[in-house]
Amino acid sequence: MILFGGSGDLAHRKIYPALFNLYRRNVIHDNFAVIGTARRPWSHEYLREQVAQAVHESWEEVDEAQLTEFASHFYYQSHDVTNVEHYVTLKQLAQELDERYECGGNRIFYMAMAPSFFGTITEHIADQHLTGTGFNRLVVEKPFGTDLASAEVLNQQIRNSFAEDQVFRIDHYLGKEMVQNILPLRFGNSLFKRIWNADAVKNVQVTLAERLGVEARGGYYNNSGALRDMVQNHIMQIITLLAMPEPKDLSDKAIHAAKEDLLASLVIPDEKAVSENIIRGQYLGTETTFEYVKEPNVAEDSKTETYVAGRLEFSKGPLAGVPVYFRTGKEMREKKTRVDVVFKDEAGLYGDKAKTNVLTIEIDPVNQVYFRLNGKIVAGGGLRLERFRYRYSEDEQAEVPDGYERLIHDVFVNDSTNFTKWEELKQYWRFVDAVEAAWQKQNAAGEKPVKYRPYGMGPDTSKIFADPEDGWIYK
Ligand code: NAD
Repeated sequence: MILFGGSGDLAHRKIYPALFNLYRRNVIHDNFAVIGTARRPWSHEYLREQVAQAVHESWEEVDEAQLTEFASHFYYQSHDVTNVEHYVTLKQLAQELDERYECGGNRIFYMAMAPSFFGTITEHIADQHLTGTGFNRLVVEKPFGTDLASAEVLNQQIRNSFAEDQVFRIDHYLGKEMVQNILPLRFGNSLFKRIWNADAVKNVQVTLAERLGVEARGGYYNNSGALRDMVQNHIMQIITLLAMPEPKDLSDKAIHAAKEDLLASLVIPDEKAVSENIIRGQYLGTETTFEYVKEPNVAEDSKTETYVAGRLEFSKGPLAGVPVYFRTGKEMREKKTRVDVVFKDEAGLYGDKAKTNVLTIEIDPVNQVYFRLNGKIVAGGGLRLERFRYRYSEDEQAEVPDGYERLIHDVFVNDSTNFTKWEELKQYWRFVDAVEAAWQKQNAAGEKPVKYRPYGMGPDTSKIFADPEDGWIYK
């Protein structure tokens, strides 16, 4: 594996610990080597110390001998991505290690650095022939572009050197346990399979709330905003899993085909729909925290949204025409990612006493699923709401792999199920671009994001609900 950005935060916090666990689990063992590259003039030894430190920061119990053995597979190559000569040195080192560790000419190129470099790196990987004689796979981090046009340019650059089936675009939400549980819940239970349609489902709600503000990332965030940072990728992927038709089988190809089928019918909103169905917000300050526009590296007149809520729909698929509500924001009451699938009320024998059935899938911070249903109360003719719940035991919870570990494993075994394909990405950008374009017009007309009180549930969103009686299940 050649890791571009080997001295970076992502490598340290996520990739090195994930690789170590894959090593402990024997997924990789003797026949692998990792070349970390970055600008800094590190030595192999220094990288190995960094790797060991990263492992210690992530894992409590570490076998030191095993860690030393693991770290000995790491090599450092100081490298400036724009300097062609550096790729020649990198190629020599890669070939040498390939022979020493008998890696069969297989290469994984991992882009863990600023996306502005991805195009240049992939171009030089090809023109300096860094690819091996076995398989060659490219892992790319988000963000993949800042709009459809820039994503297309980036994709073209990458595709000049790698075919689509060699490209693994990471969305780490797709590595989360409960996100991976959506298809088994939907298609492994005839109960849900039969009622997962526009006849029975009233609406779907996806919440991705963060407790933190922008912290030290004001400069980056201000160019992105909640819509690009969270909706374009994580929220859209979760919605896709909730609304896609049943795939032909469980192969990655069939799953992506079903996703593409659905996404072709994603309704792209016009300006009117954006102003009616999408709300953007910006957090205010408290005595101890800054208002967003006072954060370091954020302009005082910034119109970047730290919160967005909206309604979208698909014109095809099992949930055609069903409102899908989504929201994400910073400085919300608590960190929480969850899905609520709300079923229709049918006023029957029990009238108003029977409450709406809701299937809740909690993704973060706890892995659990529960279904809200009515039953009788002990005395009298009333009904009460109960929850059927399935939750992981502490032991199971401890076994849940980190998203990165799972996804890197999938790259090793060439399983692209939980990565974003270009056709999906394109549709996500189309949606986001339409919203951004409408917001630009709103800005020109003097409109701004709504200010919201931090550590609550964000601004008032009642107007986005198709039925005024509806609201968020998670309040
Ligand atoms: P970082 O700034 O910590 O690391 C960047 C790395 O790139 C460093 O190793 C740096 O030395 C190297 N680099 C920069 N310019 C270079 C050049 N000209 N030549 C060679 N090397 C150069 O960034 P990060 O937080 O690790 O993020 C890396 C990527 O992962 C970004 O695309 C980011 O959006 C994405 N990402 C990061 C996280 C995270 O948790 N950190 C989460 C999701 C996605």
